[in-house]
Amino acid sequence: MNEILSVKDLSVGFHTYRGDIKAVRGVDFSVGEGEIVGIVGESGCGKSVTAHAVMGLLPKENSFISGGTISFMGKNITHLSDNEMTALRGSSMAMIFQDPMTSLNPVLTIGQQMTEGITGVSKGDAWKEAIALLERVGISNAKERMKAYPHQFSGGMRQRVMIAMALMGKPKLLFADEPTTALDVTIQAQILELLAVLRRDMRMSIVLVSHDLGVIARICDRVNVMYAGKIVETGSVGDIFHKPQHPYTKGLLNSLPRMDMAGDKELPVINGQPPDLLYDIQGCSFVSRCPYAMKVCDEHCPKSHIISDNHTVECWLPIKTEQGGDVV
Ligand code: SF4
Repeated sequence: MNEILSVKDLSVGFHTYRGDIKAVRGVDFSVGEGEIVGIVGESGCGKSVTAHAVMGLLPKENSFISGGTISFMGKNITHLSDNEMTALRGSSMAMIFQDPMTSLNPVLTIGQQMTEGITGVSKGDAWKEAIALLERVGISNAKERMKAYPHQFSGGMRQRVMIAMALMGKPKLLFADEPTTALDVTIQAQILELLAVLRRDMRMSIVLVSHDLGVIARICDRVNVMYAGKIVETGSVGDIFHKPQHPYTKGLLNSLPRMDMAGDKELPVINGQPPDLLYDIQGCSFVSRCPYAMKVCDEHCPKSHIISDNHTVECWLPIKTEQGGDVV
């Protein structure tokens, strides 16, 4: 499978009045052509910051990439200028967000918004293409709906419009940042199904960012579990959901409601809070919340450990189990 995106050792920080926050701390992941890759983790773990860094959408005033590289279709795009990134986003990469209402201009019609950035074709052709895309994402009566304003669409329909707008440039890579979080479950399922169909029909690669393991399980091929600015486990959906290795991944899965669970049983939770990323972390970032924590976890950052071909974990536990003794 051809690699579309390769992110290596990416670190991103933010200047704040308290000091510099290390929001992303050495993230590695890749996306193949036509692949759907998930990034999952709780709020503040750095998943959206990673997505924004790849798309060149970090806030200019207080963010910085402190290390690593982002390569898109074989080209290093880590430090492209704003104009170069804008051109890339208009043609080869696109992004959709959690709340489509904040991304749509309330005083312009959908048709105006879909066609305003199109160059190189006549206005009439751009209009026809926009109608075709609205139909493609399941908006009925698309010709008429081009004249409607965003508030005249439901939440699910607005997200379909955002997807259609993202498709105008025929992107090779689509970042979907919590695309279904603001939607009810039936509409959520429809949007995920639409993304899966677009991947199949257009060979488009998708990075799906979500805090919701159910959303990730539904359409992703591979999953990266993020915690405190790092990817702590990566594997296929089968690996992550059926053979999780990292205590954080296990905790996330245990906290999901299950059909076979007794009604009066409380859902397990992951106690404690993530570390403050203002400060350097010497050992494992999960140590204060981990039921399996050992002395080594306090003192040394866990090494990446290969479980199988595509399944790796950053945790001392499987290393200790394998070696049966001291791990450092
Ligand atoms: Fe728990 Fe140690 Fe593994 Fe961290 S390295 S997740 S503290 S067992």
